[in-house]
Amino acid sequence: MKKLEHIKEIRGARSLYGSFLSVTLIPLIIYGIVMTVYSSIQLVADVQTEAESNLRNVSYAVAQAYDDKYEGDYNVIIYGDQVDLYKGVSPLNEAYELLDNIHDETGLDISLFFYDTRLLTTIRDQEGNRYVGTGANPAIVAEVIGNKEGHFYNNIQVGREQYYVYYLPLMSQKGDTCLGMIGVSETSDSVSGMARKGIIRNIIIMLIATLIAGYIMVHFTSGIIRVIKHIMNFTSEIAEGDLSTELDPAVAGRSDELGEMGRLVNKLRGSLRRLIERDALTGIFNRRYAVNKLVDFKQTGIRYSVSIGDIDFFKKFNDTFGHECGDVVLKEVARVLRETMQPYGFAARWGGEEFLLVYDNIDGKKAGELTTQVLQNIRDTDVEYEGQIHKVTMSFGVTECDKDRTMDEDVNAADILLYEAKESGRNQVVYKPIEA
Ligand code: GH3
Ligand code: MG
Ligand code: MG
Repeated sequence: MKKLEHIKEIRGARSLYGSFLSVTLIPLIIYGIVMTVYSSIQLVADVQTEAESNLRNVSYAVAQAYDDKYEGDYNVIIYGDQVDLYKGVSPLNEAYELLDNIHDETGLDISLFFYDTRLLTTIRDQEGNRYVGTGANPAIVAEVIGNKEGHFYNNIQVGREQYYVYYLPLMSQKGDTCLGMIGVSETSDSVSGMARKGIIRNIIIMLIATLIAGYIMVHFTSGIIRVIKHIMNFTSEIAEGDLSTELDPAVAGRSDELGEMGRLVNKLRGSLRRLIERDALTGIFNRRYAVNKLVDFKQTGIRYSVSIGDIDFFKKFNDTFGHECGDVVLKEVARVLRETMQPYGFAARWGGEEFLLVYDNIDGKKAGELTTQVLQNIRDTDVEYEGQIHKVTMSFGVTECDKDRTMDEDVNAADILLYEAKESGRNQVVYKPIEA
């Protein structure tokens, strides 16, 4: 696209491009951030809920496994510090097979409490010793054993590790006495690790979606701005006076508002061109157009002939039939001149009732002959005004361009010959070759 110096370059936030991007990209980024934060909060809650439900299910499974494996009720025998837990007749202290199997299968840690004391557990310290003998928090004991209700906690410290734990009360078979609890636990690190993975996945998905949406917006916006700049350049060239500039066909062919805008500017160019180049009364080219064209021909070395014609006794015609009738004659004469001249060059209104015929790349002799035909066409024209038919004649002076003359001098030479035509009785064409 051609860059025009007189078009002010607008950049940054003040430019349409900047505004478009701010109103599309900023909300998009905000939306992306809000959605990521919201979905992450939701995800953390979901992971916790799932962990809780998993721990609860496993705690029930442990209780069931004990019932399946050992018949009878839980009971304890206490000697001093020693607490021996039984199920039926089977001693449970040190009977780790069941708990270790479940631990291996589920990856979860299981502890068995007599009242608040951890009698059996799969949790081990760094040396590999089991964390037995440690006590549960009194608040937990009150809630689980006191109320005989299972409960979930997400902040239980065992050794150095933080745990999510579900405590299930250990009930007698009759269901009236609570002897302790089964605690099924998972490290907080493992739960938050799952949440972290989910959050990272969410962020990546959001980032990709935002980037794609952003790319589409930038691409679309750039396309629109490119079209607007085309129309701006086109309008600017017209504003600078270049009425021969062409609208980019890609813009003119668009079916949207921008295409319509481009076509309207193009129409404006046509209207301006007509205003500048055409005569208001007759619609044929005006003197300014003819002069520019002849100057162009001179500059580019195109050869031409000119013929200047003037309507005979037009003042009298006006006086007799009125100015309005005179105008109708002028229009009709202009039409005949334009149509006859079409294959050879063009006709222009030079002033009042004077017309200039320009023969493009035609020598003076041929131009003289063609002008004689033009005059014949004028003579043959019937001008009708208010039911009456009027006839007019014209006189012409014809010359061909001379490389030693200016364009003005060429026209003056034709004008002198027109004067001769008038002097010799009007209604005729006078042509004279350039003297060597
Ligand atoms: P000649 O044969 O010597 O040319 O005689 P003429 O009467 O045509 O003489 P002249 O060229 O002096 O007269 C031009 C007249 O053309 C004068 C003016 O009233 C008339 N005229 C000029 N422009 C217009 C116009 O736009 N409309 C009408 N109706 N008349 C015009
Ligand atoms: Mg005149
Ligand atoms: Mg006249």
